[in-house]
Amino acid sequence: MARKLLLTHIDVPGINTFEVYRQKGGYVAVEKVLKTMSPEDVVEEVKKSGLRGRGGAGFPTGMKWSFLAKPEGVPRYLVCNADESEPGTFKDRYLMTHVPHALIEGMIVSSFALGAHTSYIYVRGEMMPQIRILERAIAEAKEKGFLGKNILGSGYDLEIYVQPGGGAYICGEETALLESLEGKRGNPRIKPPFPAIAGLYNCPTVVNNVESIAATVPIINLGGEEYAKIGVERSTGTKLISASGNIVKPGVYEIELGLPVEEFIYSDEYCGGIANGKRMKAVVAGGSSVPILPANLILKTAAGNNRLMTYESLADGGFQTGTMLGSGGFIVFDEDQCIVRNTWNFARFYHHESCGQCSPCREGTGWMEKVLHKIESGHGAMADIDLLWDVQRKIEGNTICPLGDAAAWPVAAAIRHFRDEFEWHILHPEESQTRNYGLAHYADPLQPIVS
Ligand code: SF4
Repeated sequence: MARKLLLTHIDVPGINTFEVYRQKGGYVAVEKVLKTMSPEDVVEEVKKSGLRGRGGAGFPTGMKWSFLAKPEGVPRYLVCNADESEPGTFKDRYLMTHVPHALIEGMIVSSFALGAHTSYIYVRGEMMPQIRILERAIAEAKEKGFLGKNILGSGYDLEIYVQPGGGAYICGEETALLESLEGKRGNPRIKPPFPAIAGLYNCPTVVNNVESIAATVPIINLGGEEYAKIGVERSTGTKLISASGNIVKPGVYEIELGLPVEEFIYSDEYCGGIANGKRMKAVVAGGSSVPILPANLILKTAAGNNRLMTYESLADGGFQTGTMLGSGGFIVFDEDQCIVRNTWNFARFYHHESCGQCSPCREGTGWMEKVLHKIESGHGAMADIDLLWDVQRKIEGNTICPLGDAAAWPVAAAIRHFRDEFEWHILHPEESQTRNYGLAHYADPLQPIVS
């Protein structure tokens, strides 16, 4: 069995309660940092661990923390980005649902490291069960003296608040999230200044993903150097992967980074292979915004090396023949899936979620949706493929926030790797409507919420 650090006790009854979480070694990291470490020591351990942001960008967490400005007399904030809503990604929700105290413990460790005394968990508004679960966990931790004034007699004070989000995908972009947290419309800000200098209420702020914050607990317990020995290259530690689509066992898996992609898809420990004895056609490896790869390129790099579940290996070949680890939303498509239809589905999502501030994204996402639908519905012309390519090129890199790129990349990759499928739709308009193509199954396969 692979090593687990975040989901170690996931099957223990009552692990969502303070009592059982504590019995299993919970809140030891808080005791360690408050009683034996300085904030600088904690930052140093996180740097040594090599932890990279688990929300999608993969930026080194310790380095991000060290950018935080520390002007005298100005509060600093830690904001947890729990606005998970990338299609195919549901691992943060899983963690918050089943092991909420792992996040609360990580919030205390991280807030202490950053010198924050008020911290927020911004949770997607639709996740009301998780909001209630987190509020209960915070109340339990406070009752046991792990939150509030003078925690464990250390002199350190901390309050954590849960804030329901606005129900928009764009609020997962860190500056849009901060706008929303301030009570405004969730429009991304132009950067610089970055949140580390002028974030929440114009004060220095770190925004970290749920999984990144929870990962600070095993880093403190093991020590940064020991944590860095897990995984490979610059991909250290473990990673939660939400696996969905045409696989035998959809769900959330904690993997050790460096696992071969082939093993992740086909072994019984993880996805269990392709459902219904079908063949794999393609994979979206890191949530809907990363480039789709055909089956041969997800299993091996263009150079013929086994593709690994790491930031580096998945990106090998750039966007020509590679992709990204992204948020860890791993969607598998079998041979019956229509790439044009699925790309149209993604494009509809991004058009709907564009905040509309910049025209390449506002107009371009709409055009991509329309042209994809035209081709998919059997009304396309060959020139539409070039038009689609042209539109996505004009979006990429020309927008305020990364949503524009996120909308453009899947379209570019679909044309790059599956152009023949676009052409087939155009050349066979009637047949393309009767073949049994469907949408990949992105539905959340999780069990009902733990009570
Ligand atoms: Fe809004 Fe799209 Fe521009 Fe981002 S890229 S600021 S979502 S219009």
